This record gives sequence, C-alpha cells and structure tokens, in this order.
Amino acid sequence: MFSLNRIVDLIKQPVHRTEVHLRGGVHPDEHKHESTQQPIMSLPIPHQIVLPLRQHVGHLPKLLVKVGERVKKGQLLAEAEGSISAAIHATTSGTVIAVQDSLIPHPSGLPDQCIVIAADGLDEWVDLHPMDWRQQSPASLIEHLRLSGIVGMGGAAFPTQVKLRTTPKSPVHTLIVNGAECEPYITCDDMLMRERATQIIQGLAIARHIMGVENCIIGIEDNKPEALQAMTEAAAKADFAVQVKVVATMYPSGDARQLIRLLTGIEVPNDKRSTDVGLQCFNVATLLALHRYFDFGEPAVSRIVTMTGRVNEPRNYEVLFGTPMTDLIAASGGALSGVDDYIMGGPMMGFSLPSIHVPVTKASNCIIASAPDLFPPAAEAMPCIRCARCADACPVQLQPQELYWFAKSENIEKAREYHLFDCIECGCCSYVCPSNIPLVQYYRFAKSEAIAQDRAKEAANVARERNEFRLMRIDREKQERAQRHAQKALGSKDSSEQAPAAATNTEDAASKQAAIQAAIERAKAQKAQMKPKNVEDAPTQVKAEIAEIDARREQAKQAVTQSQAQPAAQQASLFDQAPASSDANSADKD
Ligand code: SF4
Ligand code: SF4
Repeated sequence: MFSLNRIVDLIKQPVHRTEVHLRGGVHPDEHKHESTQQPIMSLPIPHQIVLPLRQHVGHLPKLLVKVGERVKKGQLLAEAEGSISAAIHATTSGTVIAVQDSLIPHPSGLPDQCIVIAADGLDEWVDLHPMDWRQQSPASLIEHLRLSGIVGMGGAAFPTQVKLRTTPKSPVHTLIVNGAECEPYITCDDMLMRERATQIIQGLAIARHIMGVENCIIGIEDNKPEALQAMTEAAAKADFAVQVKVVATMYPSGDARQLIRLLTGIEVPNDKRSTDVGLQCFNVATLLALHRYFDFGEPAVSRIVTMTGRVNEPRNYEVLFGTPMTDLIAASGGALSGVDDYIMGGPMMGFSLPSIHVPVTKASNCIIASAPDLFPPAAEAMPCIRCARCADACPVQLQPQELYWFAKSENIEKAREYHLFDCIECGCCSYVCPSNIPLVQYYRFAKSEAIAQDRAKEAANVARERNEFRLMRIDREKQERAQRHAQKALGSKDSSEQAPAAATNTEDAASKQAAIQAAIERAKAQKAQMKPKNVEDAPTQVKAEIAEIDARREQAKQAVTQSQAQPAAQQASLFDQAPASSDANSADKD
C-alpha cells in the first residue's frame, strides 16, 4: 500500500497540478466512497446473454449468426458495417437461441434487435491471436480494430477505430487520457486506474503508436489519490514520456473539451473537433480494451460497472456485455427498500432505465438504485427570476436563461443564434437554478425541434432538386423530338428512317452529322431539279423569257464547273502572270 502523505505531496507538486481552472461548473456531493471500499469483482456468467446489436454510435452491424448455432466466447456475431460502426462478439460460449427485439437500456424505452445466447457455462474462448502491434502499420491496426468491437467506454460508445484515424490535414500531436470521472457516484474508472494502471499505460502505448503521437497527458481529479498514485507509478515505468496531471474536482471537468483546456490550455472551438487542433482524448477503460485486444487477442466482451445507490453492497463489477441488469443488482446484495428507479450513468447526465429487465451494454458505466431520499422528486418549477446563476455555472459560457426563453417559446432560430448546439447538456444550470426549472429538458426539446426542422428543409430541397431535374428532362426530350421531326422533314423516307436512329445514337455523333448532311444534299438536289409548277398556263412570251433565263443560268453553271476543273498548275501560272500591283492588292485583302 502507499502512504497517504506521499500522495498528498504528489498532488501538491506544482508540476502535477493544472493551473487552468474550469469555467463555471458545480460540485455536488460526490458519493464515490460507497462503491470504492471493495476491489473490482467479476460477476458470474449468467444463464442467458442478451446482446443488443446497437451498443454504439453509428450504423447497425451486420448479423453473421443464425438461431441454433453454437458460439464460443469472443466469436464475431455481427460485423461493423459502414464507416462508423462496431462489431458485436459472443461474450461467453453457448447456443444462439433467438434473434429478436428486446428492451435495451436506452432513454427511448424502445426495444431493439438483440442476439440471445443460452450460456453453456464453459466460457470457452475462440482461438485468440495476439499481435505484435509494434511491427504493424497504423493503417493495418486500424483495419484490425474494426473487428475488435471496442467503443469509447466513458459512456459515449463511439467506435474507437474511427477516433484513432488521423489525416495529414489534421495530425494529432497530443493524446489526452481521461481519468477525471467527474460525475458523482461513478467510480469504475477510479477503480480501474487503481487496479490496472499498467495495462492502461500499455493501451496508451498502442494508441500512441497508431496515431504517431509524442505527447501523452493523463488527467485525474484530485479526489482520486489512489488512482493518481497508481497511474503515476505506471507512467514512470513506461518506455515513453507520459505526464500525469491533477485537476481540481469540479463537475464537468471530465467533458473532453473541458479536460483538454484544463490540461493543455488549448481551447477547442465549438465548431471544430479536438483533432482539428491536434488533440485526441481517450477514456482509461478504452485504452485498457486496446491493450487486451492487441496484446491478448481478446475483443470487447466485458466492462467495469459501478453498482451503487440504495443497494446493500455498492461496488464495481467486471460484467460480461449482455448480462441481465437484475444479476448486477442481485450481486450487490439487492436493492434497499424505497428504491423506485434505476439510473444508468451519473445523476447529472444519466437517464432512468425503462426497466431492470435490460442487459448491461458497452455504455453501461454506472447503475444507481435511486430512492426519494437520495434524489427527492423535482420541486415544482417557478418563473425565472433572472438571477443569472445558470450563466455563472455554465462551463461553455452560454446564456442558459436566454436559451430557456427561446426554447420555451419555440423560437428555434433564436436558440440557434444563442449557440444551442454548443450546450453539452451537463445539467449545471438546472442544478443551480433556484426556480427549479428543468432547463436541460428545454434544450433537449429545442435541439430535437431544430434537427426536425433541418431534416424537413433537407427533404424539401431534395424534392425541389428532383422537380427541377424532371422539368429539365421533359425539356430535353421535347428538344430531341423536335430535332427528329426536323430531320424527318428534310430527309427521304429511307433517310428519315435512318436519321432518327442516328439521332438516338448519341455516341455516334459523326455518323449522325453525316446522315443529316446527306439528307440536306439530297433535298437540295431534288429542289434544283424541280420545275416551277405554275408556268404551264403562262403566256408564250413569259414562257420564252423563262426559257431564256434558264438557258443563261445553265451557261453560268457550266462556266463555273469548267473553271473549277482547271489544273492547279494552270491556275498558279495565271497568278504568276498577274501584275505586281495585283499581288499587293491581294496581300492587302488577306
Ligand atoms: S438560474 Fe433559473 S431563475 Fe436564475 S436566471 Fe437561470 S433560469 Fe432564471
Ligand atoms: S446544460 Fe448546457 S446551458 Fe446548461 S450549463 Fe450545461 S452547457 Fe450550459
């Protein structure tokens, strides 16, 4: 064990403590000690595993198994599909007994597609293939990661292979390791850092190799001295430089943008990603999952979950994904009397579970058994008194009271102007509001309205573009028809049959043009042979005049034909004989 004094000394060292402070924020009762009194315990294999296909941000993975199939632990059951997606693996061995819609832990309370496995209790792994990742290129490691099923374990569940990709346009120079865990009650990262610090650092080495990053900074709140100690010691043994920094305990310092600012002083603009300014942030549990995947070949099959609140033995458990939540509650000694709700996530950003009959998923970092004495029902909301406490607490420096007015009056455009989408829904404003106004709920409503408006606008634009295209097509077809009719009118019967065929053949423009030209020539020739039809009844004198004109025309035509038939040499000699003044005159004309 370590000495507490040593830890306090460590924290006091200026080199370890950040000088940047969180803007706004709140400091609710932490309630962390209840679940950190015991080491992490592995939950037994359940009889039945229910694995939702949707456990991450992005596309649904493609199902690869059938009902009745026997599967081993770590077997790929659904592969990532699309650029943002994550694979799903069997978390123990057994038989697939159903692929069906089941209730999942989501605020919507809606069922979703799940794979149900009857566990055989053997927990038999597939053949595992650890990898010498140092010998592999970043691109091939990222491609491998698509098979890992690893997502951000901080609760956001964003596919990790996507976050590890860098582009020459936005190279990453610093990796931030998020060990802040700022929400009350949640202690899974704290316990992980205490017990598995070396493995986290090994995962950091992999992330660093993939991203080609030199600087690594670990951020830990000062209410986790044991974790700080363990991480500092593990970092000291690493074969690369890692800084461990202490940040003051204040919610929401664990928000990635806030932590980046606290640790580096760099402000990530709201309309940019952290990689645009050369930084990427990973949760400690995500790094540990990377280590297990590459160094042992194990895909994502379990996570640490904090089970706390009004239960007999609050504690952290290592739980297989798909384990019934009821098993977790039972393992912690069951709920105490008065429990009327279960919250997934923390009390600030979490949500009420639709039922306890849902499985543990990749995003399940904490379950709080809630009771009225722990979280009293919200008092009735009263009118805003313009006290501005919400603005003081907002870490993003918004004007929550103004946003509230615009959201309430459904003036979505104004809410956008007041940076509605910069709100991280941290709940600090609601927490401090003396009028008990559920501000975050208003912002969520306004955001969903704004998104619906954008979608409607997009749909209208698509419809308009389609209509314009349709009108253009009608116009083009009209022109093509007119062209075909013109060709028909000019050509003979044969050519009129050939011309439309040639006209439709857009690829053979030259032959089409030749056919048209031939039709024109024939039409000219016919016209030239035609005699005037209204001269039969003309007087004899008129007929004689016409005959005379025709004769003159014929003479002129023959003269032209003869001059064209003269040899080039003869024409040249004519030029040679011309006077010098004629030459000059020709040059002037040229
Ligand atoms: S804290 Fe509540 S009452 Fe005070 S200004 Fe904000 S919304 Fe209004
Ligand atoms: S919920 Fe939004 S508006 Fe309220 S404090 Fe957090 S970021 Fe600011």
